Amino acid sequence: MIVILFGPPGAGKGTQAQRIEKAHGLVQLSTGDMLRAAVAAKTHYGQKAQEKMAAGQLVSDDIVIGIIADRIKEDDCKNGFILDGFPRNVAQAKALDEMLNEEGVHLSAVVQMEVDDEALVDRISGRYTCATCNEGYHDTNLKPKVDGVCDNCGGTEFKRRADDNAETVAKRLDEYYAQTAPVLPYYAEKGILQRVDGMAAIDDVTAQINAVLAA
Ligand code: AMP
Repeated sequence: MIVILFGPPGAGKGTQAQRIEKAHGLVQLSTGDMLRAAVAAKTHYGQKAQEKMAAGQLVSDDIVIGIIADRIKEDDCKNGFILDGFPRNVAQAKALDEMLNEEGVHLSAVVQMEVDDEALVDRISGRYTCATCNEGYHDTNLKPKVDGVCDNCGGTEFKRRADDNAETVAKRLDEYYAQTAPVLPYYAEKGILQRVDGMAAIDDVTAQINAVLAA
């Protein structure tokens, strides 16, 4: 099964991808996570991507398409994967189709998570992750069961993203509406676009996505 989780920054794609990954034995492929790792490791790609990411702009298609093309060939992707943050424009969507054709596989579903803009800013400004296992949390909506201890791995170090600040969030939302939302008609025409209510409680959203994937 190959699934795209689609939605604006802060829609909950990462949170839901982690849940679906566990439940369905799929691999989460987050271009944002991969780029942040490349930036931290100061690789050639990372150095090229860093400035764009800090400004809330999209990184060049060549870089992200190259990263995904290499990643989906790895063995752990053979049972399927969830794309989180890719594609982000029509050129990337077309490149993805070509890659999947070459591999002889096809998209199972594109799940659009619909969330009000006002909620996005609140979600993004309160979110943080475990520095060890990357489990996602939020200051008010999703706290660890024991304060300061990761539910998943017991880690006690947490981190916040450098681009989760008000100014960069506004730019990221602009980029979403200008470049990423136009991908939706592309998938609607193919008949594989499914909508879920991303404003619902986290467990409800997971249930909605599971229902889409079971159909
Ligand atoms: P994300 O973690 O998905 O919110 O992505 C963080 C940042 O990484 C974005 O604001 C972009 O700068 C960059 N990025 C992630 N995925 C892509 C993509 N598919 N195309 C271009 N830039 C991306």
